[in-house]
Amino acid sequence: MSQYDVIVVGVGGVGSSTLYHLARSGVKVLGLDRFSPGHDRGSSHGGMRMVRRAYYEHPSYVPLVDRALQEWRELEESREETLYHPVGILNVGKNDGPLISGVRASVEQHKVDVDELTPAQFKKRAPGIHRADDHVALFEKNAGYLQVEACVQAYADEAVKAGAELRVGGAVRNWSARTSSVTVETESRTFTAGRLVVTPGPWARDLLLDLCIPFEVRRKPVYWYQTEGNDYQASKGVPAFLYETGDGIFYGYPQVDKFGVKVGEHTGGMRVQDPLGLDRGVDPQDQKRVETFLADHLPNVKRRCMQHSVCMYTMSPDSHFVIDRHPHHENVAFAAGLSGHGFKFTSILGKLLAGIVMGEAIDPDLKFLHCNRPGLRFTDADFEETGAV
Ligand SMILES: Cc1cc2nc3c(=O)[nH]c(=O)nc-3n(C[C@H](O)[C@H](O)[C@H](O)COP(=O)(O)OP(=O)(O)OC[C@H]3O[C@@H](n4cnc5c(N)ncnc54)[C@H](O)[C@@H]3O)c2cc1C
Repeated sequence: MSQYDVIVVGVGGVGSSTLYHLARSGVKVLGLDRFSPGHDRGSSHGGMRMVRRAYYEHPSYVPLVDRALQEWRELEESREETLYHPVGILNVGKNDGPLISGVRASVEQHKVDVDELTPAQFKKRAPGIHRADDHVALFEKNAGYLQVEACVQAYADEAVKAGAELRVGGAVRNWSARTSSVTVETESRTFTAGRLVVTPGPWARDLLLDLCIPFEVRRKPVYWYQTEGNDYQASKGVPAFLYETGDGIFYGYPQVDKFGVKVGEHTGGMRVQDPLGLDRGVDPQDQKRVETFLADHLPNVKRRCMQHSVCMYTMSPDSHFVIDRHPHHENVAFAAGLSGHGFKFTSILGKLLAGIVMGEAIDPDLKFLHCNRPGLRFTDADFEETGAV
């Protein structure tokens, strides 16, 4: 007989929420991870994660953002802990660029509350940000950021309180599934359950190989720079931002602590072959791109880097998440390829994955993220053409 109803492999952003929702619904659930919740080895660390409804990536995400925010609020209330900070987010770029045109599409379709700022309004709202004359600024005042490590820790803690078992410190080597049971092998033990959820973050290529989806992991450094005065202070009402320049999309957060403003580049990033062997040092070329952006658009930030961190994006071929029931195993569900914009959704994705693995129909809001969509998976023809083995 199986030891558990469900095993969750990977207790990071999505996995911690899945573990919580399963445990809360009375399911006997085991969570397995190589590292402890809130760790800095995967994709859920570095302090902050933006939450926006004016969703330039695709309007279909907006209903999910609303549901995710509701889940975050409930988590905050149950713990009497603040996790979400509605500092507002500025979207800046050329009117016809992917950022601004994408924001406008979501705003129009879902009536998102966004203001187009005049140059004078922009200067008042973000005195330390230089906006080029041919760039527009769309301000979403109710957007903000989540404290990423605290969110993962909160879900893991609440899951354990609700009866989940959490085992960290050992890597999962392999899993297999039959009609009514699954087996998960770690470095030291074998566990069995009726069902399985796989939420592997950057290790999707290892743990979801049979999906034949060419996930690509990218190295994403972020930096904190020293500031002076009030131009970049969250306490003075300065918002976070996404800024599309001719070189890519950059983002930043106002100063909330002694480390200064946090900035990074959303686009680009070096390919990572082995997430465990990620180079966590400062790469001069990556840093130069960010510092060029700072010189052009945040000119008053000091060139003194106070802290840096390296994280990873797991890109799907079309940059949209892949969340579904496993195509070959009815009792296995997964979430992968969150493509650098998934954290805000982890609260609702965990709830929906819990439903999927327990046999519920796929929620209509998730349907655009299924794994049989065109262009996602390698086919036999791709293998023949590329000679890949
Ligand atoms: C720099 C940066 C900025 C970002 N900014 C934003 C943002 O502003 N807004 C937003 O919404 N999203 C953002 N994202 C994306 C978001 O953080 C990720 O999409 C999300 O955190 C991914 O969660 P996950 O659960 O898929 O992966 P993870 O949180 O990495 O979880 C995967 C877990 O699986 C475990 N695991 C994997 N393989 C094994 C194994 N074999 N054995 C045991 N355990 C295993 C890992 O240890 C890990 O804990 C950003 C990402 C980065 C890197």
